[in-house]
Amino acid sequence: ERFVSPVADGEEKVIEAALRPKRLDEFIGQARVREQLSLVLHSALRRGRPPDHLLMSGPPGLGKTTLAMIIASELGMPLRISSGPAIERAGDLAAVLSTLSEGEVLFLDEIHRMARPAEEMLYVAMEDFRVDVVVGKGPGATAIPLDIAPFTLVGATTRAGLLPAPLRDRFGFVAHMDFYEPADLERIIHRSARLLDVRMDDDGAAEIARRARGTPRIANRLLRRVRDYAEVRADGVITVEVARQALTLYEVDADGLDRLDRSVLEALLVKFGGGPVGLSTLAVAVGEEPETVEVVAEPFLVRKGFIARTPRGRIATPAAWRHLGLAPPPTVEGTLF
Ligand code: ADP
Repeated sequence: ERFVSPVADGEEKVIEAALRPKRLDEFIGQARVREQLSLVLHSALRRGRPPDHLLMSGPPGLGKTTLAMIIASELGMPLRISSGPAIERAGDLAAVLSTLSEGEVLFLDEIHRMARPAEEMLYVAMEDFRVDVVVGKGPGATAIPLDIAPFTLVGATTRAGLLPAPLRDRFGFVAHMDFYEPADLERIIHRSARLLDVRMDDDGAAEIARRARGTPRIANRLLRRVRDYAEVRADGVITVEVARQALTLYEVDADGLDRLDRSVLEALLVKFGGGPVGLSTLAVAVGEEPETVEVVAEPFLVRKGFIARTPRGRIATPAAWRHLGLAPPPTVEGTLF
């Protein structure tokens, strides 16, 4: 597993549960989303009716599951959790929907990965609070309509663009989550440090925030590893020096790049003179699958402004040369950018 992966492994989910904010006003950052949600929830509470179905879209680790839990608790309703990949057949979804209680919040993570027949059942359930259960097979099959309790669906997706329009249109509200600003990450790290009973100064928090790739999940993970280091190698207090030493040991550099990111950059600069170079050639040069380079390393490098995708292949920007402490060839500095 990659140290800077935005996805949690099984064990990490347990640790994360302790760090989740429980109420909307404890949720740090994403001010616009927070305010929009607060309006939706309060007006629903005032009317005494479940709110519209809500969709949260954004990269992993930004707080979508946390917000779903907060929505249920702000509404004072129970929460049921499932996910697109867990729903393989329409029957799996019918089983969930038919056992929801009135007003219950159903969280479907990775909703874009649900099986097609289930998706169609979900449209009807969202709109009419009804499922059509098919009994029998072949020409004799009949659909028996079954009323279900009015519920609130909270869907989460990393790719809103992948949702079929009929599904997207049935959400009354879409929250677009974005990467966090360093200042917000610092507040998250301070809050987590308090909960974990870790001593840390402001510069220590800022140093971790800078390397956390805009992602609270990564920030919390770096914090835990820096804490280990502080306890064993220092006097338990996270200062900027301790944070730097620890993260250097874990090979997370000053901008949050890890070894894979750096080896992709280095190959692009040193072996291919800054590009353009095709994805598969670049992947061979670093000994990885093209998909790993494209899905795992590249998005962050593009977001950082180190790599650009062009029709002729990947090219390095002047910032990439600077990041690795190399002098860009004159053509790059002058003509391309
Ligand atoms: P997602 O569902 O988008 O992958 P999660 O909701 O599981 O992300 O959040 C990952 C971790 O980051 C959790 O431990 C959560 O407590 C923490 N986290 C996310 N957003 C925030 C935030 N705004 N404030 C504090 N902690 C956060």
